[in-house]
Amino acid sequence: MTGRGLGRGLGRTARVRWPMEREQHAPARAIAPAAHRADAPHARAAAAGAAASSACPACGAAALAAWRTVPGSDPALPGEYELARCAVCASAVTLAPAPAEAHEEGAYGGGAPRGSALAAPLLRAFDRRRLSFLARAGARPPGRLLDVGAGRGRFVAQARAAGWEADGIEPSLRGVEGARELGIELQQASVDSADVAPGSLDAAALWHVLEHLDDPGTALERVAGWLRPGGLLVIGVPNLASLQARAGGVRWFHLDVPRHRTHFTLDGLHALLRRHGLQPVATHHLLAEHNPFGLWQSVVSRATRTPSWLYHALKRNAPLRSRDALVTAAALALVPLALAAEAAFALARRGGTVAVVARRM
Ligand SMILES: [Zn+2]
Repeated sequence: MTGRGLGRGLGRTARVRWPMEREQHAPARAIAPAAHRADAPHARAAAAGAAASSACPACGAAALAAWRTVPGSDPALPGEYELARCAVCASAVTLAPAPAEAHEEGAYGGGAPRGSALAAPLLRAFDRRRLSFLARAGARPPGRLLDVGAGRGRFVAQARAAGWEADGIEPSLRGVEGARELGIELQQASVDSADVAPGSLDAAALWHVLEHLDDPGTALERVAGWLRPGGLLVIGVPNLASLQARAGGVRWFHLDVPRHRTHFTLDGLHALLRRHGLQPVATHHLLAEHNPFGLWQSVVSRATRTPSWLYHALKRNAPLRSRDALVTAAALALVPLALAAEAAFALARRGGTVAVVARRM
């Protein structure tokens, strides 16, 4: 599927993801077809109307109400975006559709991030942890595993090294070509278009994919159908009910508006899973891959001009020479605090992102 093939299931990826592996999948349909860019009065009115008439994409309740206006999270995607929030599960929705280029530009522009070679061993450790979530819930090799939205195939490579018969689907050509360099042939496809035999998988991963989809339920239904009964799915998403979401406010690092379409709470994600025949069996809040950096960056963003300046500078998406660099350097002293705080938040089950393992019923 090509870059303009949005509108069908899992959209694009452009995974180059140091430092925090923020995910990169494009939307499908807008949840609120009547809504447009939310920076014009008529668009806001349309968005509010759509909110009133749309069901929550997480729990399904007809309970969305206008919530807040947030700035675009990427300097390349400026503007203001209206969010609506569900009165039942407290998940939120980005109302206006993401611009067509959202997964091609800015932080998703595609070049190798600064420092990516240094980060490689860390990223492999994160992948092994994802596999350990499946193992602890009972999914161990040998068996068939599929990474849905496989990016450049790094997780597929780790899963194969661990003994899985692992494959991946990935809609972006850039991801498929990157995986080829690792010797991995991905299926270039979206969730909608992928050719996967029903009931053929022992395990699957949807790692920071669901939040990029306008219709996460339809995608989940399809992935669930690929699993055999009893098969396990590991899912990662940002947690809108986290303490770092509260600390970050409209500049919360993991908000990533307008690319993120659904902003899940754990309640919302659990409800979504159950609605599609998947029983949550384990939930993890202690995630070094995303959480300490997300907290630290969200706090620092309150003092920088560019939101998430360090992240964007590493992605070659913000100038290195900037006042923000000084603010960020000074804030490095807060890193140990962020590590300790997210560990405490995890104990309180309020981690900045969550990983859930669910079993196909
Ligand atoms: Zn809801």
